[in-house]
This record gives sequence, structure tokens and C-alpha cells, in this order.
Amino acid sequence: HNDSFVYPLRPNAMDWSTHYPNIENPKVEFLDVGCGFGGLTIALATLFPENLTLAMEIRPKVTEYVRLRIEALRKDSLETTKAYQNVSVLRTNAMRYLPHYFEKGQIKKMFFCFPDPQFKQRNHRRRIVNTHLLTEYAYLIAEGGILYTITDVEDLHNWHVAKCDAHPCFERITDAAELEADPCVKAMTEETEEGKKVARSGGKKYIAVYRRLKNATIA
Ligand code: SAM
Repeated sequence: HNDSFVYPLRPNAMDWSTHYPNIENPKVEFLDVGCGFGGLTIALATLFPENLTLAMEIRPKVTEYVRLRIEALRKDSLETTKAYQNVSVLRTNAMRYLPHYFEKGQIKKMFFCFPDPQFKQRNHRRRIVNTHLLTEYAYLIAEGGILYTITDVEDLHNWHVAKCDAHPCFERITDAAELEADPCVKAMTEETEEGKKVARSGGKKYIAVYRRLKNATIA
């Protein structure tokens, strides 16, 4: 994935009108990071019609698949509900370029669904949830905003919990009723392609959800 990416110098240099052509002053609030085939983003489109979701994916062919999927859904609903105008996909390396796209505190929900586990010890620093990147995510997520993680790899789940617990800007949401009532938790468990695959093979899914704390200072 070392080919060059085109990205804006700063967020206000980004033209979102090609991504959300029918939305006035588009402002992305939800991020599906490493979206794969886009199942979560598609679900969020109808769950949250008032919020803009951006799916981000590094693989060109997968990104194009999601783009065409959204294009088809938009076309199908043009005469009826006019849905899916609020979701789009962007090809980028989310570990490198997020602050080029979004302002401080712009993001309300950020999803990491079944991220690549990077099993080998020497590759752990390439995990998409890590201490350094959590500070970047804390910068982008609004106070009270939520960071969601789900994985079928227990070791990676324990890593997510360890890194997020240790970070001063995040607090785990442990209230089972609150998680149960959150449609995002259900969507990331049931609507992602990876989540469906794990369900078919009878695997376990581990969830850890964190709130971006108010007034937290970054050490
Ligand atoms: N979230 C999807 C799901 O649950 O079905 C896909 C999970 S898949 C195992 C992980 C995805 O993250 C892959 O599609 C991969 O290409 C993408 N990815 C990995 N590193 C990335 C990065 N730095 N930026 C954007 N996407 C990335």
C-alpha cells in the first residue's frame, strides 16, 4: 500500500461536494475506519439519516466496490426515499491522513470493526488502535463522542482495552444497558461483512466502546 495518496493540505481545502453532491455544506461526523465492503456504513445511512458517514478504506478495489454499492443504492432510492445521500467512501491510509480531512472535535462516532490483527509481535505497532493514534483520534472526536471497537481476535481485543483504558482522553462504557440500547453496537456486530463471517463460523465477537472524555488533557 505504499503508493502515493492524494490528500488535502488541511481540512478546509477538502471538497466534499463530489462525495455528498446532494447535501448542503457537508460535514462528516461518523467514520467507518477500514470499512472493507461497507456493510456498517450502509447500515448507518438509514440508522442516522441526519448524520454524514464516511467509510475509509486503503484497498483500491474494495473502495471502488463500496463506491459502486453506494451509487447503486442512491440510484434505486432516488424516486422514493432519497436515502444513502449521507454516506460515501474515500480511499486513504487512515493511519496517516485523518487530520488532513477533519477538524478538531468534528467526529462524533468512530468505528474500528474487525481491524487487521497484526498478529506478530514486531507488527503490533502497526495496529490501527495504538497509543499514538489514540491521541490523534482524541483530537478529532468531539467531547462525549464515541469510539467503537469490535474484533473476533481475543488478543487484539485485550490490546484495544489496554491501550484505550490507559489513555487519559477515553473512558470505557461498561453499562450493559447503555450498550444494548445503542443501535451502533448492534450494527457493528451484525451488519459488517466480517461480523457476518464470524457469526457463520460460530466465532466470538469482542466489543469495547469508549467515550471521549470532556476536559481531558493529553499528556
Ligand atoms: N470493517 C470491515 C468489516 O468489519 O467487515 C472490514 C474488516 S477487514 C478485516 C480490515 C479492513 O481495513 C481491510 O479492508 C483493510 O484493507 C482495511 N485497512 C487496513 N489498514 C488500513 C488503513 N491504514 N487505512 C484504511 N483502511 C485500512
